Formats: sequence, C-alpha cells, structure tokens
Amino acid sequence: MPAMPHAPLYIGGEWIDTDTHYEVRSPATEEVAGTLAKGTREHTERAVAAARAAFDQGTWRDTSPAHRAELLRQVADGLAQRADELARVQSRENGAPVRLAEAVHIGVSLLHLRYLADLADRYEFQRPGPLITPVLAAGAVHREPIGVCAAIVPWNVPLLASVWKIAPALAAGNTVVIKPDEQAPFTVVELVRECERAGLPPGVLNLVTGDGADVGAQLAEHPHVRKVAVTGCTSTGRDVMRRAAGNIKHVSLELGGKGPNIVLDDADLKAAVDGALFACFTYSGQACEAGTRLLLPDSLHDEFVERMIVRAKTLRLSDPLDHDTDLGPVISAQQRDRMLDQITQAQHEGARLALGGGIPAGPRFARGHWIEPTILTDVTSTMRIAQEEVFGPLLAVMRYRTVEEAIEIANGTRYGLSAGVWTANPQAGLDIAEKLEAGQVWINNWHVLPPQYPFGGCKQSGNGREGGPRAIDDYTEEKVVTIGLPSDSEAKSHSLLLGTQEP
Ligand code: NAD
Repeated sequence: MPAMPHAPLYIGGEWIDTDTHYEVRSPATEEVAGTLAKGTREHTERAVAAARAAFDQGTWRDTSPAHRAELLRQVADGLAQRADELARVQSRENGAPVRLAEAVHIGVSLLHLRYLADLADRYEFQRPGPLITPVLAAGAVHREPIGVCAAIVPWNVPLLASVWKIAPALAAGNTVVIKPDEQAPFTVVELVRECERAGLPPGVLNLVTGDGADVGAQLAEHPHVRKVAVTGCTSTGRDVMRRAAGNIKHVSLELGGKGPNIVLDDADLKAAVDGALFACFTYSGQACEAGTRLLLPDSLHDEFVERMIVRAKTLRLSDPLDHDTDLGPVISAQQRDRMLDQITQAQHEGARLALGGGIPAGPRFARGHWIEPTILTDVTSTMRIAQEEVFGPLLAVMRYRTVEEAIEIANGTRYGLSAGVWTANPQAGLDIAEKLEAGQVWINNWHVLPPQYPFGGCKQSGNGREGGPRAIDDYTEEKVVTIGLPSDSEAKSHSLLLGTQEP
C-alpha cells in the first residue's frame, strides 16, 4: 500500500472513485493518513443492484460450501501475509497501539475468519427430518441464503466487525454490501481487495462509503436488502431497526455497553487490579465490551483503588505506532471533549476524581486527541456516569455491601453486553454469572473472544450473536420441504376443506 492510501468504492467488481473524498486523519497526530471516496445515495443504489443481480444470477450461491470455505481461507491467507502492514494501517487510522492492533485488530480477526471459513465446510445446509407415519414419506430442513445482506461497521474494530458479518454471509451464499466508518476504513478496504484477489465473482461483495445517517440509513431501509447487520452505538441500532421494518428485514445489532466488573472480597488482589485496568483501559476504553464500572466491596475499596492508581500511573501514553505504547489517543476531538464533559458532570453529581481527568501535558500531546486514563470513585447508580457509555479511558468505581446489591447494581443499566467477576471461588463466580444480564461474563478474565464462542449482547446492547458455531444460522432462512403419504389421516385433513363426499 502506498504511504498515502486512497480507497475508492467497489461496486459490481469495479473500483470506482467519486467526486468528493473524506480525509482520514490519524487521531494521534491529526495528519492525513489517507483519503476515501465519499459515496452517495446513487452509489448505494448501484451497489445494492449489483449485489441483487449477483444473487439472482446464482453463480455464488450455487457453488459448493467447500468452495466458499476455501475462498474464505485464501482471503485469510492473503491478509495474514500482510498482517504487520495492516496493523500499522489500523494504528494510523484509529489510534490503536500497534501491539494491540497486531494481536487483536488483525490477529483476532484472522482467527475468527479462519474459524468461520472452516465452519462453512461442516455446516449442515440441509438436514433430514423425521419420517412421520402415516403423514410424511420424507422431509428435510434446508438452510438457504437470505439474499442481499448489508454490513455496517464502526471504526474501533473495523476488521473484526466486518469478518463477523461478511464471512458467514458469504459462507451461506449471500451477496453483501459493506459500509465502513469513514474514520477507519482501510482494513475493510483491504479485506475487500483480498476477496477480489481470491476470485470472488463480481457483485458478490460490494463496498460503499458515505455518512451513516445517509448511506447507512439507505441500506437499512432499502427494499432489496434482506438483512442488515450493524455494529455501532445504541441510537444507531434503534434507527436501523426502525428503518428495517419497511420490508421486515432480518436485523442483527451489536451495540454499546457499560460492563460491570465485580470484585469479590476473596479475589487475588494483584490479578484483579491488573484485570480491572485491562478490562477498562485497553484501547483507551474504546471497546464495546470494556469493563467500565468497577464494583468493589467496602472491605477492599480503599486498598484496591490505591493499588490501581499506582499501577495505572505506569501505563505509557504515547505514539500508537511505538511498540512500547500502552495507550494511544481517542478517536476524535469530539470524543475527547465529550469525555471531559462527562467527568465534570460526574463531579457535580458527587463523584471524586481519583486519577487523570484531563489532557496530558507535554509537546507530544499538542496535536491529536489525547486524554488521561481517568478513575472516578464514589460513583452511584443514579449518576449519569454510571449509566452512559463513555467510549474513552474512564473507570467508574462503585461500592457495594452485599453480593445481592452488587448484582442489582450490575444489572441496573439499559445495557447487557459484558460483565465480569473476580474471585478465588469459581463456583461463586458461576452463581453470580447466572444472575447477570449480559451476553458474556468473564470470571477472572476479560476481553477473551475465542472464535468458538458467539459474541453479542442483550437489552439495549443488541440482539443476535456474531461468530461461534451458529454464526451461519443468522445468514440463512430455513425452508422445510416434505413429501406426503396418501393416508387415512391425510384424507381426513383434506376433508376439513373438501368434505367427505367424493364427486
Ligand atoms: P456509530 O453508531 O456512530 O457508527 C457505526 C456505523 O454505523 C458507522 O459505519 C456509521 O457510519 C453507521 N451509522 C451511523 N448512523 C447510522 C444510521 N442512522 N443508520 C445506519 N448506519 C449508521 O458508532 P461509533 O461511535 O462509530 O462506534 C462506537 C459504538 O459502537 C459504541 O457504542 C460501541 O459500544 C459500539 N460497538 C459495539 C460493538 C459490539 O459488538 N457490541 C463492537 C464495537 C463497537
């Protein structure tokens, strides 16, 4: 890739430029990291038409699952060969520390892509149903592709969010229109390029760009799109769901979170302190599954906070392209300012600033969107900071007296994506996990996303799951085909309409 990439759109197998472009700027330096074609409604219309024509033509859906699996594996191989380059692209565009980008943004995405490719090989696209005498001579349940699927992805984990949608969609024989976020599009563009290189037929995968409220909204309401999958914030999910109602689309939503992280009084303190920081501050808190509310028992509270502050001060906030960097910037000035406002508001409501809270000092931070890792204590459930997603490095510490109270606090938001428990007693962790409203609960861990497990949330964190062994279910329609047996009971059921008299 050239030093200053430019990404066009990809429609019907052709790369198409547009009259106007987005500038993608590094959040660390505000320098232009590349430019991106700015798609319009007309481009979206063309992309959906290309996807629909490719679906109707059937060249992709009629290939064998083994062929589709092999193509996806080739895509994974192509991306893997360029993993270092892609990690730097990722780091430049969304500010992820390059160590994290290598391991997670690219590494974990590739693990999931390979898993989903292999899944296509062993997925039951057709399963025999039981013989039901004397009514059915035979029956089968087919899993068929849905049609044109739209994938709308965010800037924070663009490749993983794309893989979770594109891989099962293509594995099932669908065609796709993907829309990346204009702040971090380039790893998604490279995924599309690798699909083209691997020989995906024209029109099967199309890429459009454009403003979410315009192009994204159009995809959500387009009558020829049969499924829309979105990773984004909860208000976007709500809007998409409303728009998708027009043609009763399949909708799957991976939305925001406010993960509660409960420390029990028997927890290994060192592990729990490190774990609490890892849960919240990884990628500067810009992970939907971050553990952003830390629930401490009264007995541990003061010592735990003190230890966390000491440990958090060792985090190195610096250039995301440097391998020694622990924390980079946040994505935009708007995000930084929003977090600063949230800190001020929380203090007005009675929270106490225990660490950070401002823009770091020094020439390195003169440009870019920097904010210190921040810890607020004395947070209570009724404060806005305990309820609102921040999407920045802000940990809200809350106290609890009993485990029942901790569970009540944990479940007391509109979100239900992630949660965690730190304890020396795994059974206690499991008992609490049963009562937590969340798509994933980590006991003595956080951010672990193996491809064999599905990911997603409940409540206003979304619906549906991505990845895991059932990932292809969400990109297929079930069709039941049965062959009847002439029999007494069938004759009886016909008689419900036709009466019992022969003509
Ligand atoms: P966002 O909702 O603003 O944008 C996400 C995508 O949706 C972008 O491509 C955007 O252009 C598009 N979009 C925006 N408005 C739209 C609309 N009205 N109709 C259709 N598309 C629209 O989200 P963001 O701020 O860029 O990303 C951060 C959010 O994503 C956070 O809330 C985070 O928790 C969430 N997220 C969730 C998961 C998950 O798996 N649950 C993963 C990553 C991020």
